[in-house]
Amino acid sequence: MFSNTRTIATVFGIDIRIDPSWALIAALITWSLCQHTFPTALPGLSQWSYFAMAVLAMLLFFASLVGHELAHAVTARHFGVQTRHITLFLFGGVAELTQEPEKAMHEFWIAAAGPAMSLTLALAFWMCAGTSAVLMGIGPVVVVLDYLALINLVLAVFNLLPAFPLDGGRILRAWLWHRSGDMLAATRTAARSGTFLGYALVGLGVLGLFQGAMVAGFWQILIGLFVVAAARSAVEAQQIKFHLGDHPVGALMTRNVITTNADTSLSALVNQVMLPNRISFVPVVEEGALLGHMDTRVLIGIDRENWSNTTVGDVFVDLDPDCCVASDLLVFDLFERIAKTGQRKFIVVEGRSLRGVISLSDLTRHLGLLASLGKVAPDVGNARS
Ligand SMILES: [Zn+2]
Repeated sequence: MFSNTRTIATVFGIDIRIDPSWALIAALITWSLCQHTFPTALPGLSQWSYFAMAVLAMLLFFASLVGHELAHAVTARHFGVQTRHITLFLFGGVAELTQEPEKAMHEFWIAAAGPAMSLTLALAFWMCAGTSAVLMGIGPVVVVLDYLALINLVLAVFNLLPAFPLDGGRILRAWLWHRSGDMLAATRTAARSGTFLGYALVGLGVLGLFQGAMVAGFWQILIGLFVVAAARSAVEAQQIKFHLGDHPVGALMTRNVITTNADTSLSALVNQVMLPNRISFVPVVEEGALLGHMDTRVLIGIDRENWSNTTVGDVFVDLDPDCCVASDLLVFDLFERIAKTGQRKFIVVEGRSLRGVISLSDLTRHLGLLASLGKVAPDVGNARS
């Protein structure tokens, strides 16, 4: 899901990582606390005092967010579901679980644990703020603690909105799933409410822009679109598993794969292979043996002026067992692999020879084709609208 992340700590054996996009939201929060929130709550302090308060509050806010995600991760582990990492990014935090919970009740407890942690933290900060106010009077410490109590409360309430894939939406799905025993139908209903709420947030954001709230407005629009996209891909994944789960990868893969060899220069790879064929991922094959692959991520890391004197052989990504699957692997198991590795594109191999390539978008296209031929339930079309 994320590339270029940095691991900053390991807690309970789970890596806590930061995506570069986090820096933007961290800076925005610090700026807004320093310029507006704290000067309004406690006038008369120096700019440096507000800045120090803002940085401290921002760091403790993200520590609270990690606490929220850790609560999900630790509860998931209790039910036998491992967490790959916790990642802080533009829209907050996410605990990436390696698989979907097996039972509705497991999903319920895993989803509820995060908001429960945020509510507990809100209460703890509020009590600390109250105690500090009695002991020291209203000062910077109390103002920062009050902010942390409020922001954790907001975090809990926002996440409890019944909009899949937010926690509240997962709780809703768990309840529907528990009631009907049909996980696909439960996902569809919960995702529909997610889509509705996502568009409602976009609408509120647009309204905010017209009223001059530029930052908050843009923010709501971005989060709204994020929720809509996440709801759509969650339904798609469920539908693919349901309709194509027992198909072998070999039956759905792309067979005519365009390849390159080690002697090709990077500029030839880009201009003669990637651009004309509109592909971003190219397996590297030498005398029938698969060596590895090239993709745009590797190219971005190399200065453009060196593309003509660098060959694919100098920089390609070695054959990684995480990227390879056998053609008899079932699509259902491919999803486990996607969840475990975060990869979305796989090379289908037999020994060291290339058989094809399979990606999430291949599966989505196949599902769309079946739907348009009337071979699967007609709801597939609705899920993408
Ligand atoms: Zn959560």
